[in-house]
Amino acid sequence: MSPQKTPLFPSRLPKVGTTIFTVMSALAAEHHAINLGQGFPDFPCDRKLIEEVNAAMLADRNQYPPMIGITELRNGISKKIERIYNHHYDPDAEITVTAGGTQGILTAILACVSPGDEVIIIEPAYDSYRPSIELAGGKTVAISLEVVRDESGQVASYEIPWDNLKKAINSNTRLIIINTPHNPTGMIWSKADLDQLADLVRDTSALILSDEVYEHMVYDGAKHHSVASHPELAARSFLISSFGKTYHVTGWKVGYVAAPPALTKEFRKVHQFNVFTVNTPMQYGLACYLSNAEHYLNLPAFYQAKRDFFKAGLDKTKFKLLPTPGTYFQCVDYSALDIPQAKFNEADFCKWLTTEIGVAAIPVSAFYEQSTESGVIRFCFAKQEQTLSQALQRLQTL
Ligand code: PMP
Repeated sequence: MSPQKTPLFPSRLPKVGTTIFTVMSALAAEHHAINLGQGFPDFPCDRKLIEEVNAAMLADRNQYPPMIGITELRNGISKKIERIYNHHYDPDAEITVTAGGTQGILTAILACVSPGDEVIIIEPAYDSYRPSIELAGGKTVAISLEVVRDESGQVASYEIPWDNLKKAINSNTRLIIINTPHNPTGMIWSKADLDQLADLVRDTSALILSDEVYEHMVYDGAKHHSVASHPELAARSFLISSFGKTYHVTGWKVGYVAAPPALTKEFRKVHQFNVFTVNTPMQYGLACYLSNAEHYLNLPAFYQAKRDFFKAGLDKTKFKLLPTPGTYFQCVDYSALDIPQAKFNEADFCKWLTTEIGVAAIPVSAFYEQSTESGVIRFCFAKQEQTLSQALQRLQTL
């Protein structure tokens, strides 16, 4: 091999390395551990959905679709949002089909954040927000959820840090990113929370990016409160969702962004040049599948059964369970386990749990930029009962 020289250049994302999700999944595979780390289902999606996609391919729907997504899918998304959140988004002017939630988030940020603009995120936060803001040249202003502890000092729940959020908003704030239901904590925003957010931004020019990819995973009869259901917030928000989460097809990477015309216009300018459009047969398949509302209306019961099964098994351990009103994640405080490893930091505890106990989890500290240790880790319960049983058997030895 000739020693050719590759020119070096300053990294656009110098702080980004291998994520903890990749590290834990690799460790899980190496040690044959049950992977409750990364958030994806280990069960198949509905065959009907695959048949619809196959039918579209066989019907030769394999060329470029319209840049903004096929009409049938945008109409279906608009109807769904109107039905459950009582807000009409015009499918032509306000809805864009994206390559998953992640591309929707990056594109929205690139579309509205200019160098020097501030973007507020609330940690623990999904790992794509920060690098997306950096790529846009924006400044990330991170505030943290308040950690509520019980009498014994264990983490009991998380709360929105209203005072810090209020202090963080100023005339440079271009965007505030919220995420409900929330990854990793499972918390959900109430109607009163949305009202409070609206009060804070009313006299500002701040936009909202509302990451609602887990919108159909709320439990115990609770309701998901979307920015779409709040007219004042909807007028300044990018609403992000993902079919990967809703229909158990995380590998398909199809989602959408709904936003008022002025935001959508700028969004599409960027979308046009970072993906142009999203694969055609999946869009036809999803459009057919979406027309049956049961497919998403049944999701809370489906996942609540899994959550309750997993929770009942963990109740037999010394893990302290945090409330999980939404998402497919169960967070636990491990500080009361009667083992020396209970003193480990979260990342070391997760590595030990993977290699020695055979169950992979994700440290919640990975969702903060500055090391923040609370003794809490995240399990994903989007798994078959058999997988959860095996994991529980191992965890019950602790
Ligand atoms: N936001 C959050 C909070 C997520 O957890 C995920 C997926 N892990 C995404 C966005 C990205 O969704 P997608 O896979 O559709 O890109």
